This record gives sequence, C-alpha cells and structure tokens, in this order.
Amino acid sequence: MTPEEITALLDLQELDLKLIEYETHQEALPGLLEEIDGPALSAQAIREKAEAELAVAQAQQKNVEKELVANNDNFKKLQTKQMAVRNQIEAEALQHELEALKDRADQLEETGLRWMEAAEAAAERLPELVETATAATEAAATARAALDKKTQELKRIHDEAAELQAPLVKQVPNQVLSYYKRLRGAGKAPFAAVIRKGACSGCGFQHPPQKLQEIKQAKRMMTCEQCGRIQVWREDEEETIGF
Ligand SMILES: [Zn+2]
Repeated sequence: MTPEEITALLDLQELDLKLIEYETHQEALPGLLEEIDGPALSAQAIREKAEAELAVAQAQQKNVEKELVANNDNFKKLQTKQMAVRNQIEAEALQHELEALKDRADQLEETGLRWMEAAEAAAERLPELVETATAATEAAATARAALDKKTQELKRIHDEAAELQAPLVKQVPNQVLSYYKRLRGAGKAPFAAVIRKGACSGCGFQHPPQKLQEIKQAKRMMTCEQCGRIQVWREDEEETIGF
C-alpha cells in the first residue's frame, strides 16, 4: 500500500467511526425512548387508576343513595298499611317487613358511608397524582426533545461523513477494502490499526522486528496475527512517540 492509500484508509476509518456512532445510537434509540417514557407512562397509569377509583366510588355512592330512597319509600308505604291491618298475623307479617326494610336501610347507610369515604380518599389523593403525572410527562417531553436533537446532530455528522467517504473508498485497494469491510462488519474499531511502539494499536500485540519491517514496507496488506486487524505504519505516529 502506498502512503496515500494508507492515508485514504485511515481517513475512511475515521469517517466510519462517525457512521458507527450514529448506527449505534439508532440501535439504542428504542431503549432510550422507553427509558424516557417509562416514568411518565406509569405516573399516568397511577393517575388514571385513581380517577377510575373515584368514578366507581361516586357511582356506587349514587346507587346506594337511590336504593336508600326507594327503601325509605317502601317503608313509608308499609307504615300507612299498618292502619289497615285486620289481625295479629297480618300485623306480625307487616312488622317483619318493616324490620327487614329497616335493616336494609342500615346496611345501605353503612355501605354508602364506605363508598363516600373511598371517594373522599381518592379525591384527596388525586391532585398530587395529577401533578406528578404532569411533571413526569413534561420531563419526558424535554428529554425526548434533547434526544431528538442529539439524533439529528449525529445524523447530520453521519450524512456528512458518508459523503466524504465516497471518494476515499475508490482510493483504497479493493482487497484491503473488502477485508476492512469484513472487520467493520464483525465489530471492534479500529479495523485498521496504526503501529505504536512496535505494537498493534488495536490489541497491543508486539510484532517481531521482521514483521514490523514488512508492515513498514507495506508491499502487501499486513494483519495482526493476534487480532486480525489491518496493520499500517505511519512515520509521524512513531516519531511523536519516539520509537
Ligand atoms: Zn492486534
């Protein structure tokens, strides 16, 4: 590989890292959104549950009141019949019915009271739950906006890098490029590793002098025998470190 080809390969890789950052971000996005929306959704669910409880308690309270009114009407009707009883048996039967209605009224009053208390408790809890849900929803919206902004920014960098890559791709020898692409597909950057202090900068493997010489000469594509990354020699890298 010529120094120009090596430069093209390394520039290509640098741009690739930007593409990868966006790709990684895109993959993480559903999880991030879930994390953002989770607290708001659960706060809303808690609020809705409390609202539903309040509605049920109020409806039940109304039903009980209605039944109590009907029960009292029946009681009054029966009371008027008391004037017209003709014998002891009728009087006792009537008394039974009146007592049953009175028991029922007591029951209903007790039930009504319980529903009233339940409604009051739900109504008391509700404002705080509404406030919590509203705050959580607002926080989620803010976090979403920030994430959207980051996504857009990474996308912009990605698109720009993709455009800059196009001419570089043509400058890298085909064989090197296809091997590079395989490494990129498999995962861990860097895919082309610059030699630092005589070692692969990808995994730290120290090359024997003969191999270093070959990498430096770059007559053919060289790879690290430990990690398989493409090995390239850059005069300036070695000089700054004082190899
Ligand atoms: Zn290596």
